[in-house]
Amino acid sequence: TTKTRFAPSPTGFLHVGGARTALYSWLQARANNGEFVLRIEDTDIERSTQAACDAILEGMNWLGLTWDEGPYYQTKRFDRYNEIIAQMLAKGTAYKCYCSRERIDALREAQAANGEAQKYDGCCRDLPARVLSAGEHDEPFVVRFKNPIGGSVVFDDHVRGRIEFSNDALDDLIIARTDGVPTYNFCVVVDDWDMGITCVVRGEDHINNTPRQINILKALGAPIPEYAHVSMILGDDGAKLSKRHGAVSVMQYRDDGYLPEALLNYLVRLGWSHGDQEIFSLEEMKQYFKLGDINKAASAFNTDKLVWLNQHYIKSLAPEYVATHLQWHMDDQKIDLSNGPALAEVVTALAERAKTLKELAASSRYFYEDFAEFDEAQAKKHLRGVALEPLQLVQQKLAALTEWTVEAIHQAIEDTATELDVGMGKVGMPLRVAVTGAGQSPGLDITLFLIGRSRSEQRISKAIE
Ligand code: GLU
Repeated sequence: TTKTRFAPSPTGFLHVGGARTALYSWLQARANNGEFVLRIEDTDIERSTQAACDAILEGMNWLGLTWDEGPYYQTKRFDRYNEIIAQMLAKGTAYKCYCSRERIDALREAQAANGEAQKYDGCCRDLPARVLSAGEHDEPFVVRFKNPIGGSVVFDDHVRGRIEFSNDALDDLIIARTDGVPTYNFCVVVDDWDMGITCVVRGEDHINNTPRQINILKALGAPIPEYAHVSMILGDDGAKLSKRHGAVSVMQYRDDGYLPEALLNYLVRLGWSHGDQEIFSLEEMKQYFKLGDINKAASAFNTDKLVWLNQHYIKSLAPEYVATHLQWHMDDQKIDLSNGPALAEVVTALAERAKTLKELAASSRYFYEDFAEFDEAQAKKHLRGVALEPLQLVQQKLAALTEWTVEAIHQAIEDTATELDVGMGKVGMPLRVAVTGAGQSPGLDITLFLIGRSRSEQRISKAIE
């Protein structure tokens, strides 16, 4: 069965590039009834932080990219890596290299001067056993992998097709440093093997690691997974996506008012397509996703499209569900929900006009709190220096209602316009400014209904004063 993994290094938050890789890897597992592993590659102790780990898990959770195993932490697996290194040394698929830093530096310089590829020359590769005895054991050494000589490594990348590397271009990779700490490429190999990974989905920046990892897997007698190397994401200016292009952390999108469904849909389409379909539910993604349909070219980020998708999901997902995400923004904007309508009703009323949940939250404040001031321009236009007759009449009609329903409110407004023989706007606009403080709101009937009777009546009286 298919088993994939996402293996972030916890050196920063989960950014959109990482999230897209995670999504593709997750979909590959989900589309094939497989399993998905989360592995934290924290061997770079200096650059890895707990805060970054937490941020990555938070981002994965928010996106709903659930994992079946893990999170595994590489720093907890050093014994296992060292065990394999000892086995490789015993078998002769790895060797101790005693070359000094000076020797390696001089070698590099000489190679560079001759225009040769910089590569370890294998000096310690076939040292006679006696050299490794007695006092020499005290010298510092690294452990190198005995890379095959001659021939090549070939793999069929799901995104890029056949890729071939000549073995002679590959170094005898260091798999353990002088302090005994195993190196990154080696840990990945042992992990992918131990965790039974059948398919590796990762960024194209890892392509050069793949032949090295395959050679080590072969030396271990481990199965070779399939590979898919995903292209980069570029900003709308064509440069590699970076902080400069605005929000790049997944959680920043939450903060800015995007739904996870919108971001997932956006990310899946950013470099993958299924015909010309744009909107994909998670079910559809799982149904249609194929690694082979991932685009080889880099993709350009397009915020307008993300906004468009967000609007789509705010409008089309169940209001009760959207409300669970809106809640965060209400808390963030310190809007006290204890006195006002149910959040789902607010979603229904405002969904049509909101680009983001952040905006939606901001424009729902008047349902829960009295506003301190009118929008100056709107008040001038509709409340001051104009005849207040329509507002006064609608006030009376509302006061006379036996029940506070959307239909009854609607009727009261309509009757006012008919009785005064004026357009609906002459009644509606002053009323809107009176109850919301501003010139924009959903239909007045639903608006007044949600604001509630006593609050609406108080606000109208205050506007007429
Ligand atoms: N830890 C690597 C990264 O964050 C990913 C390595 C891999 O997927 O093999 O770029």
